[in-house]
Amino acid sequence: MATFKEFRNNVKPNWCPGCGDFSVQAAIQRAAANVGLEPEQLAVISGIGCSGRISGYINAYGLHGIHGRALPIAQGVKLANRELTVIASGGDGDGFAIGMGHTVHAIRRNLDVTYIVMDNQIYGLTKGQTSPRSAEGFKTKSTPEGSIETTLSPLEIALSAGATFVAQSFSSDLKQLTMLIEEGLKHKGFSLINVFSPCVTFNKVNTYEWFKEHVVNLDQFPEHDPSNRMAAMNKIMETNGLLTGLIYQDKVRKPYEDLAVGFKEQGLAKQSLELTREEFDKL
Ligand code: SF4
Ligand code: MG
Repeated sequence: MATFKEFRNNVKPNWCPGCGDFSVQAAIQRAAANVGLEPEQLAVISGIGCSGRISGYINAYGLHGIHGRALPIAQGVKLANRELTVIASGGDGDGFAIGMGHTVHAIRRNLDVTYIVMDNQIYGLTKGQTSPRSAEGFKTKSTPEGSIETTLSPLEIALSAGATFVAQSFSSDLKQLTMLIEEGLKHKGFSLINVFSPCVTFNKVNTYEWFKEHVVNLDQFPEHDPSNRMAAMNKIMETNGLLTGLIYQDKVRKPYEDLAVGFKEQGLAKQSLELTREEFDKL
């Protein structure tokens, strides 16, 4: 069985020292090993942004896609080869701005993909502009007088869109983050895991210290029932979206793969290897 070290490769990340994304990478590698995966059973598909580089730093199948399109690619990979475990990843700008349409529809489609968003509440790769996750009043080069837009709440949107797995974590809490990714990988359906992953270079407001002071661990609410959608929505709103833990999980609803009528036992990629050209053309 592979250890987490076998999910490492020899590519040195070029993230800034202290970037939260290092811990997310480590958590993915640990979770993949903990659920018993081998590197050749995993595909990591990413979008554009600092965090989008993550697919190049993990020893697995990978594809560094285009801006906001990690999810269409990841879903295509899963449909073509259902034996692969598929992780999609990227930043808050990638997934919740340009890619938001894909995010909402991937959530309600409920294909078995684990989506890990590194949410630093800014655009880091392009040197610090306001993102949909930045707070009102947030000052950057793109909002020098402070943002006048409402902050987008991905967890509320996910619940409204019919998500079957909604979790949130903080990159400093490697234990919780690893556990949540494991649960996301095991969940049969689409999993959204939003991770507060500080940008130490450009976001001087939402720092490690800020998150340590403000995040609210779901462990504080032992009565919370993750199968209760309304309770999950209430808890997210009560904590101003700063709740961490496994907030909602629907274990009953079947994933897309199990519901699609006529969906063959094996994905198209595998089938096509076993078909003649004539048979393939008839598909
Ligand atoms: Fe990380 Fe920010 Fe540096 Fe990008 S700019 S690598 S998000 S610390
Ligand atoms: Mg970002």
